[in-house]
Amino acid sequence: MTQNLPDVPRSSAFFFDFDGTLVAIAPRPDLVAVEPHVREILRALAIQFDGAVAVVTGRPLEVVDGFLAPVALPVAAEHGSIRRDSRGMLHIDEGNEAAVAAAHAALEPLAEDNAGLLLERKRSSIALHFRQRPELAAVCEGAVQDVVAENPGLVILPGKMVFELKPKGIDKGEAVRAFLGEAPFQGRTPIFIGDDVTDEHAFEVVNALGGLSVKVDDGDTLARFRTDRKGLFEWLFRVVDQG
Ligand SMILES: [Mg+2]
Repeated sequence: MTQNLPDVPRSSAFFFDFDGTLVAIAPRPDLVAVEPHVREILRALAIQFDGAVAVVTGRPLEVVDGFLAPVALPVAAEHGSIRRDSRGMLHIDEGNEAAVAAAHAALEPLAEDNAGLLLERKRSSIALHFRQRPELAAVCEGAVQDVVAENPGLVILPGKMVFELKPKGIDKGEAVRAFLGEAPFQGRTPIFIGDDVTDEHAFEVVNALGGLSVKVDDGDTLARFRTDRKGLFEWLFRVVDQG
């Protein structure tokens, strides 16, 4: 499945999704493991590309920081509603806090009544994970659709064994645009690497800007290149070696 990934411009900016891209997906989100070569490659890319390396994820900021420590990168967390720029400044979009709280309250009974469902409350979004109860996919989908019908300021982001609810107007594509408006990302060719439906917003933005979009693993995509995680890291080490 690995296509030959191209050489990258010297003036590139790297944007990485976290789950399924930097780390392999685990049975529960807290169980992912960061392999040592992941930190190694992030450090090397950050040096080679003048700090223009960021993580763009649906995860909360402190969770990503915890997994990647001691490496601390610019991060767009919760799909971009919380973004830490290269100077360490936080940009927070409070979004529609009341709707997110209402959605959480509405979904709590479902999660409580069904062992194995995991309802994750983040600062400005929520995630209903059903990886351990795949037979409840349709039930979960119906529940989040009901919630959005009641709270039209929210949208559903379907992911791998998860439905996320977040305020409209916040997505990974906008997060990439925000980084590209600032040093050290500004003026660089964006490269976005991701594996899931939520990454499609970023692929679209990167394609429009003449950048490089890389989809990890299978699934329909707008990305121009495709690889698996093994191929991804082989490519990244090649990029670093050629620098
Ligand atoms: Mg992912």
